[in-house]
Order: sequence, then structure tokens, then C-alpha cells
Amino acid sequence: MKRIFSGIQPTGNITLGNYLGAIQNCVKLQNEASCDCIFCVVDQHAITVRRNTGALKRSTQETAACLISAGIDPKNSILFNQSQVEEHIKLAWVLGCLTRVGWLNRMIQFKDKVGKSKDNASAGLWCYPILMAADILAYKATHVPVGDDQKQHIELARDIAHSYNFEFGTEFFPLPKAEILSKSFRIMSLCDGRKKMSKSDSSDMSRINITDNVDTIAYKIKKAKTDSYSLPSEASGLTGRAEAQNLITIYAALSNKSLDAAILEYGGCGFGRLKQDLTELAIEVIRPIGLEISRLMSNTDYIDNVLEKGSVRARALSKPIVREVYDTIGFLST
Ligand code: ATP
Ligand code: MG
Repeated sequence: MKRIFSGIQPTGNITLGNYLGAIQNCVKLQNEASCDCIFCVVDQHAITVRRNTGALKRSTQETAACLISAGIDPKNSILFNQSQVEEHIKLAWVLGCLTRVGWLNRMIQFKDKVGKSKDNASAGLWCYPILMAADILAYKATHVPVGDDQKQHIELARDIAHSYNFEFGTEFFPLPKAEILSKSFRIMSLCDGRKKMSKSDSSDMSRINITDNVDTIAYKIKKAKTDSYSLPSEASGLTGRAEAQNLITIYAALSNKSLDAAILEYGGCGFGRLKQDLTELAIEVIRPIGLEISRLMSNTDYIDNVLEKGSVRARALSKPIVREVYDTIGFLST
């Protein structure tokens, strides 16, 4: 039996990138009989960068509402928020003591997020892959559905799990695998095809939010950066054309087609037709989810209740695992 763990940060509006890269895969996995699924709104990760903390609770609720609206069934899967289950932080300390500084220094996402101001970044942002490893290992999860941008963090979680097993001469932790389904895509910013689409990007025009209304979706796609050539008929023609590649990729992902099929469909056309079709498709796929989020957010008691029940179930799974780690380490419990 596969045990799936996946986390999403309540760092703002969920984007089309989050949906196509991760959430839709989570929904597919949940619907496979052989999977036991745990989905977590990782609110402790969300404070690794400075935010308006007053907005965190609502953002946590909205992220949970988004997962439910996209098809995560809280009766079937465990859905909870990280800060309600202290086992994550308890395990993170132990794992941090097994993690080498050099491993963290290699993390590309840290370098991308801090840019030139490394010394001003929070220590939390630097350590976050350790907490992420704890999120996964506290449940002995075997598979982690993530977008391509998180592959390196899952590899680090494997190294940390291996390091624990080696140090204590056990097979206690399974080595988790990134579950990147063949149809998952890395979606890039609408303003710069070389930067990934992110909920925390300062420009709202860089992304399509799941909650954007019809006019906003149409406007953002209309304004999306392009180049002045027509679209190529073969994949090789997209080399060096990051924006064309991105728009075709989004089209392929939304229409459930392969990239090659999408390229064939638009080969020789200008961007106008692609953008028009993309707009219709984006509205058709994400608008129902956006409307359902608004409906759920009109009664946050329901969401809070789902997260509370999910936390109780998550704690029941993680508590004995972390207790065993503490016993192995030799922490005295009276
Ligand atoms: P932040 O900018 O705050 O890090 P984010 O948009 O990167 O936000 P996360 O909460 O870090 O979102 O990631 C949630 C999931 O979405 C992860 O599995 C991640 O791999 C996936 N994901 C994020 N951005 C993209 C993207 N542009 N394309 C595909 N998958 C993505
Ligand atoms: Mg991210």
C-alpha cells in the first residue's frame, strides 16, 4: 500500500501552477484504491518568509477550501493543517541534527528565493527542507506527489531518512519517492517564461489564481508575454522560446493532451488563436473550482471542523512514529 503525503503552503492565492503541477495529481492518487492519502496545509512553512500574519488563518482555510473544491475528499483522505500536529516540529529537530549544512546549501529553491539577499533571509527558509522531510517521515510516507520544482527537496528527505536508518542500524524510515506523474507540468510565470509561476510572486499578472474571475483570467492571458514569431510545428522549435513553450504547455495540461499533440495543433499559427483557446479552456477548468471555494469560504466553521478532525487522525498516525524515534535517540520520557 502506498502512503501518500503532500503539502501545500498557505502563502496566498493557489495558482494554476499548483493545480496542474500538484493538486490534480493528488486528486488522482486519492481515487486510486491502493493509496492511503494525507494532505497538509503547511502553515509553519508559510512563515519562513515575512508575511502579513493576520492573513495566515484565512489563507490556511482558503487553501483547504481549494483542495476540497478540486476534489480532495476529507472523509476519504486526511486533510489537516501542520501547526495542529506538533509531531512535525518534534521530528524536525532530530532530523536537523542528522542533516549536513552542505546538503542545505545545495538547495536551488533557497538560492532562487533569496536571490542576492542571502544574509537577510530567515534561518527558517534555509531549514525548511528539514521540516519538509519531517512532514513526510512523521507518517512514514512512501510517495510524495509534488511539482517538478520540489524534486530536490524530496531527494534531501531520502538522504535524511537514509542517514537516520544508517546511524541507528535500522530500516525504520522508508525512503520516500517524488511522485511526479507523467502528465504533470512545470508552469512558468506569464511575465517571464524562465521563472516558475508562484503564489508568492509580487506580480499578480505573473499567475492565474484559481479564484480569478472570468475577466481577470482573460486579461492575464491576453497580456501574457510572447515573442514575435509564429508557433513552431515541432518541439525543437520551442528551444529558447520560454514564453511560447509555457503557453503551449499550459494548453496541453489543461486539455489533457500531450505536448507534441498541442504543438501539432498550433504549428504555424500566431499567438492570438492559442491565447483565445487557452482562455476558454482555463475558464472551463478552473472557474467551477473558484466558485466552489467562494461557497465554502462563506462558512469557515465547516473548514475548521474538517481541519480539526483531520489533525486528530494525523496525530494518531504520527505520534507513535515520533515516539519511537525519541525512544531510539534516548530522550527520557517519564
Ligand atoms: P511559494 O511561492 O510560496 O513557494 P508555490 O506556488 O511554489 O508558493 P507551494 O505551496 O510551495 O507553492 O507548492 C505547492 C505544490 O505546488 C508543490 O507540490 C509544488 O511542487 C507545486 N508547484 C508550485 N509551483 C508550481 C509550478 N509553477 N508548476 C508546477 N507545480 C508547481
Ligand atoms: Mg514553493
